[in-house]
Amino acid sequence: MRDYTLSQRLLNRLRYSTSTMSSKPNHTHTTDESSELGPQKTVAGFAEAIIRRLIRAADEVRKNAYVPYSGYHVGAAVFTKSGMVFTGCNVENASYGLTNCAERSAIFTAIGEGQREFVAIAVVTDQGWSPCGACRQVIREFGDNIAVIIADGKGNYTSTTSGALLPSGFSAADMK
Ligand SMILES: [Zn+2]
Repeated sequence: MRDYTLSQRLLNRLRYSTSTMSSKPNHTHTTDESSELGPQKTVAGFAEAIIRRLIRAADEVRKNAYVPYSGYHVGAAVFTKSGMVFTGCNVENASYGLTNCAERSAIFTAIGEGQREFVAIAVVTDQGWSPCGACRQVIREFGDNIAVIIADGKGNYTSTTSGALLPSGFSAADMK
């Protein structure tokens, strides 16, 4: 595991507002009219430095994606409440259905390291595509207000939340 633990200085700059995130479920920031996505000072209540760090970690790990069939590289970086970052990439298989997405790879890695509280996840693809349904369900398992930062290969991003991506999603509460 790479050490992406954030410095205390960065953690002190963390801005996490559940009210802001839940009342604005889907932000798209555009400063470049040629792009659907765009840079933004803050998004989802997080300091820009943290968002950039997550995107950078996700973009870096996507180079390791095992994608001999699609050639489509995806990277993800999940940010824990304790200030740690875990990354994952997509891993394809000759038996296509066994393919695992980057978002799930990152979360499963974090779980294996004893982390269960997540506040944000960044996902990077060439075009800035949104997480698939399976990943939305897995992210939602750990909360309906996790910031989901969706970035393209150029560093432009948009944000939403786990709850907005999976309205009326099945959760632990339904198992009671
Ligand atoms: Zn997925």
